[in-house]
Order: sequence, then C-alpha cells, then structure tokens
Amino acid sequence: MNLFNVYQLWPIEPVKAKGCSIWSKEGKEYIDLYGGHAVISIGHCHPTYCKMMKDQLDKLGFYSNAVQNSLQSDLAKKLGEVSGYTDYSLFLCNSGAEANENAMKLASFHTGKAKILAFGKAFHGRTSGAVAVTDNPKIQAPFNKTDNITFVPLNDINAVTKEIQGGEYAAVIIEGIQGVSGIHEPESDFLKLLRKVCDKYGVILILDEVQSGYGRTGKFFAHQYAGIKADIITTAKGMANGFPIGGVIISPKFEAIYGMLGTTFGGNHLACTAAIAVLKVIEDENLIENAKVMGEYFTSKLKGNKAIKEIRGRGLMIGIELYEEFYDLRDKLLFEKNIFTGGAGKGVIRLLPPLCVDKVIADKFITAFNELTL
Ligand SMILES: *Cc1c(COP(=O)(O)O)cnc(C)c1O
Repeated sequence: MNLFNVYQLWPIEPVKAKGCSIWSKEGKEYIDLYGGHAVISIGHCHPTYCKMMKDQLDKLGFYSNAVQNSLQSDLAKKLGEVSGYTDYSLFLCNSGAEANENAMKLASFHTGKAKILAFGKAFHGRTSGAVAVTDNPKIQAPFNKTDNITFVPLNDINAVTKEIQGGEYAAVIIEGIQGVSGIHEPESDFLKLLRKVCDKYGVILILDEVQSGYGRTGKFFAHQYAGIKADIITTAKGMANGFPIGGVIISPKFEAIYGMLGTTFGGNHLACTAAIAVLKVIEDENLIENAKVMGEYFTSKLKGNKAIKEIRGRGLMIGIELYEEFYDLRDKLLFEKNIFTGGAGKGVIRLLPPLCVDKVIADKFITAFNELTL
C-alpha cells in the first residue's frame, strides 16, 4: 500500500530529538524553530515528560470514558489554575479541529441557533464544521459549504454587529492570533467590543487558542492580553507536546447533558498524563515568562534587517513578512543553515519554537538570517 500523498514533504527524516534540536537519519543536527507546528511546547524528549509517560504506559495506557478517570479531573484542576479559568469545565477530545467542532456544537445546543460568524483568513481545522468556518474555499468540499456560516473582516466590529444583531447566530469563532494566515492579531480594543456585542445579542464567543494558547504568546491564552473572557476556549497543539489531545474549556453557564458530546479516545490516560506533564514543566521552568522574554529578544534582534517588511505576533508566535526578493529565505535557512522554521502563505516565515528556546539558539538563527540577507 502507498501513502495517500497530500503533504509536501521536506527531504529530511528526523529520527531523534532533544530540546530545540532534531537529528536526521543521516545524523545531521537541525535547530527546530518550528516546533512541529507549534506542538512541541516544552522541548523535545523532556526528561520529566518522558518519565511520566513511560510510568503511565506501564500502569495503564488506555481505558474508555465508560469508567472514572481521575487523571482527567487532575488535568482540569491544573489547567483551571494555570489559565485563570478556574470556574470553567473541561471536555477532552483528540485534536484542534475536534475541539472547535465540539465548541460550535455546544454553542448551537445552548442557543438553539444554527449560524456561526467567522473571520476572513481564519483557519479552524479540517473536519466538517471546522473547515466550514475556515476561510479557504480550496480546502472545502461541496459537502462542507453551508449557508450557516458568514465571514466578516478581522477587526471590523461594525461588520460583526450588522450580522449578529438580527438574533440568528449561535456563536462567533475567532483565533487568539491568526496563525495560518501569516500571524494576524485581533486588536485588543476589537476583542473588548466583540465581547460586548456578543453579550448584547446573546451570542457565544468561542476563542480558538489551538495554536496561540498554552503560554506561547507570553500569556496562557493570547486573548488574555485584551483582558476579556471567552465563553468557550479551544486548545490542542501545544497541550501535550505531541501526544494527540484537544480541550474545550466551557463557561459555567453551559449545562452538561448526558450524551450531548462524546469520544472514544478523548481524555485517555496517556493523553492526560502528557498534558499534565506539560503544565508541570511550563510551571517548573517558568516557560510562559520565557516565551515573552524570548519573543521580545527575537523581534528586537531582527528589527532593521532589510529583508523584512513587517514583524507581527506576540511571544513565540512570530510572523516575519519578507520582501519578495527574499521569498526563498526559508529554504535557505533549512538547507544552508540547518534551521527549521514554519511558513505561512507566500513570503511569511513563522517562528513557533519550543517555549524553552534560549538566547544561544536565537543568536544562531539571527546570525544565519543576517548572513543570508546580506
Ligand atoms: C492547527 C489548528 C487547528 C486544527 O488543529 P488540528 O489538531 O490539526 O485538528 C485549529 N485551529 C487553529 C487556530 C489551528 O492553528
């Protein structure tokens, strides 16, 4: 059997990793400033994480949601403390798309309404509902197109109000910081007004923090910079350092009804252990603060480079928009300097390194970047 070939692959096969480094099967070392797409939050193969996972695997790897599992409540308690959402509840699933899918379903159950408002250039995942609120017709099949979804421009509060004032909407869904579109941030004032109009018209505010969450931006969730609270927050990528998991964080105003949501794998023993280990390391090593400090370091050192049109983002979610003559820089960083970075459309380099990245690694990147753009 062949693989169903939907990915464009770099000609590199990593076989080993540690911290912010990965090694190819030829034994070449690469610096990882991409974090496997914002997934590796505490660094590769962290010893605390590996030990907790191995111990759990030896005890009990999986049982279904038909039995009690106190690892789920341990995770919920810890996540509440670290995020500040102590009075909210947690529903566990397996991915970011699934978290958004469940969030929108919950908003629809709660309000009895079907429509969802989303934003231009948004990305929310690949499953039916999630891809329907993703602003990219190329990845939507005819099956995914529905009249229930409307897109309005990011940061345009008048467009939001005009749509939702009629009372037909269940929810508004918005990324904490847009990732796939090339790092575009909702303005703090916009988020505050969005919170107000959602309250006014009884619309659920869903914050998709799948990529921007878990400390990456220097706060636990990016929307916390605006000082607002969401009704539902979705999380996934950085949550378990690569073990599949997704979380839906739900306001106390929602009523949990037996059977309304469910999953076979979601919240299993290994996934919960991975997520608990990540929170432990984030706290022990003060990684949220490090994300903030290192984000400022990267940005300040890059400023003034003539290849750069604009630098966007917060903390360790950084978008570097290049001038056209430097569009091949990402390839050069990888093939000439052995540095992995993320991309986003044409001409934007996305830095999504593990939150433990340090100045030594950052300086290697800055030096390489400067050399290649001389
Ligand atoms: C990656 C991503 C998703 C989808 O997550 P999967 O785990 O790939 O399903 C959803 N929303 C945002 C903002 C993302 O970056």
